[in-house]
Amino acid sequence: MGQIVILDQNMVNMIAAGEVVERPASVVKELMENSIDAGATKITVSVEDGGRKLISVTDNGCGMDGEDLARAFEPHTTSKIKTSTDLRGISTLGFRGEALASIGSVAQVRAVSRTRDSTQANCIEIDCGNKNSVSPGSGDYGTTIQVRDIFYKLPARRKFLRTANTEMTHITEQLTRIALANGNLALTLIANEREIYRLSGNQDLRQRIAELFPMLSVGASENNFIEAESSEKGLHILALLGKPGISRTSGKFQYIFLNGRFIRDKFISHAIKEAYRGLLEPNRFPVVFLFIQMPYEDYDVNVHPTKIEVRFYNSNLVHSQILGCIREKLLGTNLEAQANLSAVPHQKSTFSGSALVRDQKIADAMAEFFKKHRPVQTQQQFGRPLEKPFAAPHPGAGQIAESRPSHPATGISLGQRRFLQIHDSFIVAQTDDGFIIIDQHALHERIIYEALRRRMQKGKLESQRLLIPESFELTEAQGEILESNAELIEKLGIELVPFGPKTMAIQAFPTLLAKAEPCDFVQDLIDLLERRDAGADAERLTDEILNMAACKAAIKAGQKLTDSEIEQLLADKEIAESPSRCPHGRPTTIKFSISDLEKQFKRT
Ligand code: ADP
Ligand code: MG
Repeated sequence: MGQIVILDQNMVNMIAAGEVVERPASVVKELMENSIDAGATKITVSVEDGGRKLISVTDNGCGMDGEDLARAFEPHTTSKIKTSTDLRGISTLGFRGEALASIGSVAQVRAVSRTRDSTQANCIEIDCGNKNSVSPGSGDYGTTIQVRDIFYKLPARRKFLRTANTEMTHITEQLTRIALANGNLALTLIANEREIYRLSGNQDLRQRIAELFPMLSVGASENNFIEAESSEKGLHILALLGKPGISRTSGKFQYIFLNGRFIRDKFISHAIKEAYRGLLEPNRFPVVFLFIQMPYEDYDVNVHPTKIEVRFYNSNLVHSQILGCIREKLLGTNLEAQANLSAVPHQKSTFSGSALVRDQKIADAMAEFFKKHRPVQTQQQFGRPLEKPFAAPHPGAGQIAESRPSHPATGISLGQRRFLQIHDSFIVAQTDDGFIIIDQHALHERIIYEALRRRMQKGKLESQRLLIPESFELTEAQGEILESNAELIEKLGIELVPFGPKTMAIQAFPTLLAKAEPCDFVQDLIDLLERRDAGADAERLTDEILNMAACKAAIKAGQKLTDSEIEQLLADKEIAESPSRCPHGRPTTIKFSISDLEKQFKRT
């Protein structure tokens, strides 16, 4: 006697619903996507109790006639594809024909729809798979679908719903993704009869972001982002790249869209991470809005029921184009952190980053400094910041070292540059429109790092013989590590010779690292080579070594510098490739503009 039965259609739908309908937010997503596919320019979403009680989506799209309305809730019914060839280039958000059937099998649904050329709306009701026949209804053209008491006949599923607040967060996230991808869509979100969002239909991307993410737009939101665009090999890329200063602790603020569809993709995430390498501390994630446009035939969306993952036929191309576009833009942009003097403290607390706390401390200290050493000047002079703002002699001017610039092409006003070192750690330097504060260690680290990298690319580091070879002890395993990395060590300009049992002597050491302790450096190098995970590629390893070398050879905090050393540092900064971040991604420089100071001193 056979055990196998064929499940009835309602059971099939309920099971299928498990794939697409996970929670109220999935319903919101599916219904909104249907509205967009129907050509809607306006969508209103209204929910109650986090969508657990009611989800209602109204659009002004093409609508359905009575026949289609009845059919739309049957399983595997769609107007978007017909034959298997259509699967090769899907341009709509939906195509699987299962969302409405799934939703109708797990909730009480009422749909009202009217096509443009009809004077009459039609209505249909489905209660957990039990469908009434279509009846005349009243309504404007377009479609309204109401979904009540989701999972009410499925206690096991209902139990997994979270609090209304949590479900609401998921709903808002779905709406946010759709809002970002469709700038010309007018969108309203109402929760428990309270309006949460009302986005007009003609916003540019920056306006949309500012409305959806008020926390990202502290100060002028425009300044927090850099725009990058490229169009090559059939791939169009538009990216709004968050500056390092607004980075986050998770990748949640990376929005990737492919032809208007929000996707998650590990190749693309990797490309973004690589593009920011060295510009961010390793545990931080950049805020990125990335819009990719490419032929529908070049990828497959039919890999995941919620279509959040796609399969690129040429993922290497996608990776390299995105990496190239973002990296090039970031390296070509001045990323000096802008001091945020005028923001009120409680707004700043939205960022927990220690960098901002430090910014604030320095800002306060500088405000204090300039209060005490206020220049003797008239309001009128101050109003023209390009005319030597600190020109008049004043108390404290003696501390400010003056020197002739070694780089005339750096935009220094009136051929003079002024700077001072404070706390033997920071350098304050005047610029055309304000001043900058430099972390001397971080900047020097970056300069040495770049120099090391340039030399390594050309061949090997130049070295000099040590007057007295320095010896150190090592274990057998460490000896083996040195042996198996002999080539790399030679490239680094380090010459090692055995010096008795379990002892090595350093005979030559790289010139660029003259300030580092040879033994200390080699010991750390061995540690690094020991720790190195087998999979790490050679380039990454070299990078880590150069980072470490730069850190050891750089001027330290707390080290008094002579005027000519400071001058050299400032001159090197001008020619560095990315002087605004240290190799670990921390800022080297914070910019203060005269207008910020004027605001702070209530001069404007
Ligand atoms: P899919 O979107 O994958 O085609 P759905 O189950 O989501 O499958 O929808 C079934 C069909 O119902 C769609 O193909 C479309 O023709 C129609 N439809 C659904 N929602 C709407 C809407 N808001 N406006 C017009 N037609 C709709
Ligand atoms: Mg659909």
